[in-house]
Amino acid sequence: MRRMPFTYAVRPDADPTPEAWCFAFVDDQLVVPDSEATPFAPQTWQRFEASQTAQHYLGRLDGIDCRAFALSDVPAGCKRMPLRAAMMALGEPLMNVAGCAAQVIEWDRSHRYCGVCGTATEPRTHERARRCPACGHTSYPRLSPAMMVLVWRAAGSGAAAGSRTISDEAGAALEKPNGYEVLLARSPHYAPGVYSALAGFVEPGESLERCIHREVLEEVGVQVTDLRYYGSQNWPFPHSLMVAYTARWVSGAIVRQEDEIEDANWYPLDALPKIPPRFSISGHLIRDTVVALGGPEPQHLASPVVAR
Ligand SMILES: [Zn+2]
Repeated sequence: MRRMPFTYAVRPDADPTPEAWCFAFVDDQLVVPDSEATPFAPQTWQRFEASQTAQHYLGRLDGIDCRAFALSDVPAGCKRMPLRAAMMALGEPLMNVAGCAAQVIEWDRSHRYCGVCGTATEPRTHERARRCPACGHTSYPRLSPAMMVLVWRAAGSGAAAGSRTISDEAGAALEKPNGYEVLLARSPHYAPGVYSALAGFVEPGESLERCIHREVLEEVGVQVTDLRYYGSQNWPFPHSLMVAYTARWVSGAIVRQEDEIEDANWYPLDALPKIPPRFSISGHLIRDTVVALGGPEPQHLASPVVAR
């Protein structure tokens, strides 16, 4: 698909486009065309106004308005679809706008009353915020930063790889395929058989780096170093910002945190278990790191990632 830039905005800075990308939700599910033959496409957005309980302008995608709606009922000719499945079907860049829509709708729904004094809040027109007319307390859409980290090491370590970087290691690994292994774990709520990188929410007062060291030690009992930023993904389940890293193992045998981690193991690059697909950032992080370390592109796909 051609890349189309999405420009986030709270209100149109030009005349509204006659049709819009409409991300309408009934409860937490996205409204999509009833028939497989009908594509998800820009449409006359006024059709949703009859059953809307909330509407938000989101911005423009390739010059076309994007709007989010909360609806009381599913309109004729439409059906509802779980957001994760809908995002996988839409692909980029629409899936990202759908995630934005879901977060704006959910934030708006859950901030109708002031958290300080209980008065009904009012939407602001010039920014995405709801303000209390009694005490002035203002609420903005929530984002919860979380780290994700793929830990790697020379196979069978003990023999740690000194102070070399991941690119140095990849160069060495080209001459020695499968010379490295990665630490993958599964949480009890993952789909059966699926393993992924470690992840955890950032606590108040904590940096991303500090969070990585703490979570890795808590979840699997190992020490890491050589943190390298990989990328980030806004993840609307319900409002996470996933920030992904790689890290090199330093010391420690795997000791699971019983209530968080069902299983965790070191895997050679050519013998991975089922991993998430290239949809969530975990799927990208694991595949790209395995290849960077000189391993084969992993073929094991799992969908959905989480059995909900
Ligand atoms: Zn208040």
